[in-house]
Amino acid sequence: MKVIKHSEQVLKTALISKNTHLVKLYEKLESREKCLLNDAFQSDSVLFRPITLHSESDWISAHPEPTQDFEQFYHDPCRSKPTSQKSTIYIQPIGSFGDTKVSTEDYMKWLKDYCEAFYYGVSVKILEPAPVSHTGCTFRVNEYTRNLQIHAGDLLKYLKKKKPKDAFCIVGITMIDLYPRESWNFVFGQASLTEGMGIFSFARYDSDFYSASYKGRLKSVRKCPATDYSIFEDYYTPAITSVVLLRSCKTLTHEIGHIFGLRHCQWLQCVMQGSNHLEESDRRPLDLCPICLRKLQSAIGFHLAERYKALLEWMDEEGSGMEAELRNEAKMGLLKPVEEFKEYREWVLKCLDVLQK
Ligand SMILES: [Zn+2]
Ligand SMILES: [Zn+2]
Repeated sequence: MKVIKHSEQVLKTALISKNTHLVKLYEKLESREKCLLNDAFQSDSVLFRPITLHSESDWISAHPEPTQDFEQFYHDPCRSKPTSQKSTIYIQPIGSFGDTKVSTEDYMKWLKDYCEAFYYGVSVKILEPAPVSHTGCTFRVNEYTRNLQIHAGDLLKYLKKKKPKDAFCIVGITMIDLYPRESWNFVFGQASLTEGMGIFSFARYDSDFYSASYKGRLKSVRKCPATDYSIFEDYYTPAITSVVLLRSCKTLTHEIGHIFGLRHCQWLQCVMQGSNHLEESDRRPLDLCPICLRKLQSAIGFHLAERYKALLEWMDEEGSGMEAELRNEAKMGLLKPVEEFKEYREWVLKCLDVLQK
């Protein structure tokens, strides 16, 4: 295992910068907020840790990229941010989620509320779920895994038509696997940052996906007619477990982060770290390091404590698994399964401690 350890000076410059205007902006922040952000360059920080590389297939080894500090982000002429005319993040569900209509609605509400807490101050709306047949997409059966796959580019074309006028961005999500072109095995997602669009599949977040007993494997690999979408009607969708919820919250916020102009983080452990495989994605935390947090704060203008409080509320609100456990009221399928967020909850509490000292 390799640890990417930056010096205190490097991290301090990445966060505060040497540009006089940006230093002044930093100084104007509340002292408690600076206290939390400064933890980026405290070598004994319990909140923010250095990135570790576990193998050659990890993102940073496999895809060397330039770093992006706060100053580069701030001065990036191409980055987009929400404006009063284009202020809303839209999420377009495609195909079904979970096994009932109720579970789709609940799951979408959880994702919406999570994104609203994460991008605190930006409104997030869920569009009416679209059946696969409405998108007019090309699809196939993967010859190795025998699961259904949709052409990602076709879904982007569909999203472009659906994008509302007041959208800051539109993000399509689906439980069906995606492929970018005939010769590729699969893709987790595809985005067009300039158009503020992205499509992401959570199919491979099902812990059974790679097992031989995966229920999404078709019995026979028959050739399906290009326009017959009936095959999607009773197609398997994984149950919304706590792991699936956590992975989808993580992916959505990471990908929307790119649309805000945040590049892959190479400073500290952070949700904006690139990931090459599921194990690496699971290893990265749910939230932002101070450098990426300052980028997002400058784009949206939220109060740090308010944002963490909203995230905490999302984990604690009525109907979430943890609280229900205490009240012993497990109503199957309607509870937000937040067990996997326990560690994150502890971390958010520590951040709030610093911000409210
Ligand atoms: Zn990324
Ligand atoms: Zn970061």
